[in-house]
Amino acid sequence: MPVEEFDVVVTGGGPAGSTVSTLVAMQGHRVLLLEKEVFPRYQIGESLLPSTVHGVCRMLGVADELAAAGFPIKRGGTFRWGARPEPWTFSFGVSPKLTGSTSFAYQVERSRFDEILLRNAQRKGVEVREGCAVTGVTEAEDRVTGLRYTDADGVEHEVAARFVIDASGNKSRLYSSVGGTRNYSEFFRSLALFGYFENGKRLPQPYSGNILSVAFDSGWFWYIPLSDTMTSVGAVVRREMAEKIQGDREEALRALIAECPLISEYLADARRITTGTYGELRVRKDYSYHQTSFWRPGMVLVGDAACFVDPVFSSGVHLATYSGLLAARSINSILAGDLDEKTALTEFEARYRREYGVFYEFLVSFYEMNVNEESYFWQAKKVTNNKHTELESFVELIGGVSSGESALAASGRIAEHSAEFAAAVDQMAADDDGNMVPLFKSQVVRQVMQEGGSVQMKALLGADAEPELPLFPGGLVVSPDGMKWLPYRPV
Ligand code: FAD
Repeated sequence: MPVEEFDVVVTGGGPAGSTVSTLVAMQGHRVLLLEKEVFPRYQIGESLLPSTVHGVCRMLGVADELAAAGFPIKRGGTFRWGARPEPWTFSFGVSPKLTGSTSFAYQVERSRFDEILLRNAQRKGVEVREGCAVTGVTEAEDRVTGLRYTDADGVEHEVAARFVIDASGNKSRLYSSVGGTRNYSEFFRSLALFGYFENGKRLPQPYSGNILSVAFDSGWFWYIPLSDTMTSVGAVVRREMAEKIQGDREEALRALIAECPLISEYLADARRITTGTYGELRVRKDYSYHQTSFWRPGMVLVGDAACFVDPVFSSGVHLATYSGLLAARSINSILAGDLDEKTALTEFEARYRREYGVFYEFLVSFYEMNVNEESYFWQAKKVTNNKHTELESFVELIGGVSSGESALAASGRIAEHSAEFAAAVDQMAADDDGNMVPLFKSQVVRQVMQEGGSVQMKALLGADAEPELPLFPGGLVVSPDGMKWLPYRPV
């Protein structure tokens, strides 16, 4: 049988795979997506961020479908965390002038959310084959040239493509074909035990759709409303507490809930779901890792296949969809003949690593705050001899990838032209009493949030969005339609 040929073949139909395949197919290229499950399928990762919903999903053309799906609206997060004994809330609330309508995200059943994205990919021209498990890549000289897969009937196939994208999540081994190694974080090595409850308590309005995250002695709980009555509840325990989730899972979860008064209170009248998809108590390692290279000639990693960082700030689907967008821009530029592979994919990797890195460092500080934040920040200021506050010194030191002049200039430009978004960042950073939550004061963290806003604005305004500066010296800028990269030409 002759080998089928495509411009791009994607492994995995999660958010990363659906995003990259759709955005490449929308430029008229031939894209095949291979997914080993038949959708809808279960996945964890239910709390989304606004830049996914209003940025990437709008570019994909699914924003209205998501709005119609009736997912609970997440206006922000409520935390019982750090030194403060009472829960504190941050809100995505923004100016109604521009970003007011995008000041929220959704809490989603991933089986439904992922299927919306995958069916949209099909409608946009992606050939989707479910029940097809990729078994390996084909190579010629130094280049990846295609994939081998086994279909639902057990028949083996080979396809050729100019680009192979691994969006197969954190369980497959396909990523190793890109070369390099998967580096695991020593800092984030936790285990999660999670299940679903009916009739759990809700936060008071207008925050009833917020994620509630509660630190306790063994780790922390997430409490995510997935409908008026169903709640996703997970305990994330530190590696040294791993024995707490061994043995009988029901008993283990009950004991962990009993350790945490706030979650006990919220679940006092609740009943755990014990049948169907949500009836299982599941355990997942949430170890953080990143691959040393995100691409090689002919092959690109996106989403969890490339990297993962601790789930406390719900960054997984954001990183999956954002990396899908970055990869699509690079591949669209190469296939159009506008840029060479190395230039385009170097931009992809640099931006993706930067986003991952800032979340990573942000999260390190978040956990350290729980223990001894003041001495840690003071130490960072001392070693850097930084003129900024102690906290800023800390985040800017460990978020070094973000501290290039051009990146700061870009954020300044975005902020200059989007006062509403800058105000929103401040509003998001304020607690219920209007005091700044210290972590959000960091310039680097603020900058990344502003860039998230720029993705949203580009999706909203298209070609009318303000021109951008490169994020890195000699780097590229985004095309007016957001689908490709362009060389930077100062006006
Ligand atoms: P996936 O969603 O895993 O999709 C990969 C797809 O590839 C799957 O459909 C799989 O079937 C398919 N596949 C795998 N192997 C093959 C193969 N060989 N051939 C063909 N197909 C294949 N993120 C959030 O945003 N919010 C949260 O609240 C959140 N909570 C989390 C809690 C925990 C405990 C953990 C561990 C993670 C959490 N995440 C969260 C992260 C989130 O689950 C992931 O980051 C996200 O699902 C990554 O999307 P993806 O498209 O890269 O991969």
